Amino acid sequence: MTARILVVDDVFANVKLLEARLTAEYFTVVTAMSGPQALEICERGECDLVLLDVMMPGMDGYEVCRRLKNAPTTAHLPVVMVTALDSPADRLAGLQAGADDFLTKPINELALLTRVRSLVRLKHLSDELRARAASTQEIGLPDPLSLAAAEDGLNGRILLVEDRANAAERMVAGLQQHHVVEVEAQSDHVGERITTGGYDLLILSLSLQGVDALRLLSEIRAKRELRDLPILVLTETLDDPRVMRALDMGVNDYLARPVDRNELLARSQTQVRKKRYQDRLRDNVKASMELAIVDPLTRLHNRRFLQTHLATLVNDDGVRGAALSLMVLDIDHFKQINDQYGHDCGDEVLRESADRLRDAVRSIDIVARFGGEEFVIAMPDTEPFAAQRVAERIRASFERKPFAIERGGRSIRVTISVGVATAYGKGISPDVLFKQADSALYEAKRGGRNCVRAAA
Ligand code: GH3
Ligand code: MG
Ligand code: MG
Repeated sequence: MTARILVVDDVFANVKLLEARLTAEYFTVVTAMSGPQALEICERGECDLVLLDVMMPGMDGYEVCRRLKNAPTTAHLPVVMVTALDSPADRLAGLQAGADDFLTKPINELALLTRVRSLVRLKHLSDELRARAASTQEIGLPDPLSLAAAEDGLNGRILLVEDRANAAERMVAGLQQHHVVEVEAQSDHVGERITTGGYDLLILSLSLQGVDALRLLSEIRAKRELRDLPILVLTETLDDPRVMRALDMGVNDYLARPVDRNELLARSQTQVRKKRYQDRLRDNVKASMELAIVDPLTRLHNRRFLQTHLATLVNDDGVRGAALSLMVLDIDHFKQINDQYGHDCGDEVLRESADRLRDAVRSIDIVARFGGEEFVIAMPDTEPFAAQRVAERIRASFERKPFAIERGGRSIRVTISVGVATAYGKGISPDVLFKQADSALYEAKRGGRNCVRAAA
């Protein structure tokens, strides 16, 4: 993971120190020695994250942070405030200025790299959402960027695993102004609870009584559905080697005791935002995949899906020797319906047809809109006589009940012609099967429509 880090500090030696450490970790470092200079670099989009000294002559770090967070072009840039000594007041002021996290001078190496990595990851996710925004809107999905911009990382659902009542109480008091926090004191309940709890963040003490917290972590990370759950660990001392191990195992960040309330808030907020970004991205991918296989008018599968699925079906060892039936259905004189009642009424008929087809088949059958007013139903493990019976039932269901159009204002008679074909065994060609069913459909049309024909 590489990124461009802007180091801002009015003391040259401090700049050089951070630059050396970050460069050694293969980050690209940009430097500035004053607030205005830092703002210019950020506005030109030349960095992915800012390490910002608080005490600077002229414009101090808080002011720089405020300006960055208030400008639309730079608001998404993560800012880490570098505060002198251990000053809770500085942290509070930083948080109020919009800072994403803190580092205390002298800067601890592990703290530096963990904070930077965690925020760079967040930045990459938000960049990905930006990139998706343009292409996604073109195909009619909600804009993930505006969804992400509205994401403040607040109101998260947090599970705190801590068996010391006092410590838990203090942390809950800090977190609950902004989040919903639940406490679990018994580690053997954790696995069950987090898989079903829908949490945005897990905060886990590394010093639970009688429990190997690292083992617990590895069990959590091994679960597929929990892979993206952000985890913060609480450690007694910064030099506990288990912190490194935990980070290696995919823990996102850590907090050292005594836990500073503002640090806890900042770090939780970053992780909750990250979780939500990931959820948005996944929703976006799911929606675009769905668009690729679903017909938007009828919500049936589309032709592409059907073709892929048929290929899978005929190559599946499980269906070796079994009968696969295919039905091609075409609405009779559909053009006349459009011409007489208008295209919108035609659409209503198509949607209603889709509903009737869906209702007529089993759940393992695939109903697809093949094009225009033509549908295809694939029925695995179905002998010809059974397929013809289903086809006849569908045909009759169209004929029997008139279709409502003009939102129920009027109803019209709609009929359908159907061709059926069946193939046996593995390795049959879906194309050949389709052509047979299509020829049978042609016979049905020639035979006067509103009827079913089976392939010879
Ligand atoms: P036949 O009985 O021989 O099948 O005659 P037909 O009129 O149903 O068949 P034809 O292929 O001549 O006409 C199909 C019409 O379906 C033409 C096309 O404009 C219309 N159509 C295709 N897609 C849509 C759609 O999404 N909505 C609407 N309303 N009409 C559509
Ligand atoms: Mg037709
Ligand atoms: Mg047609």
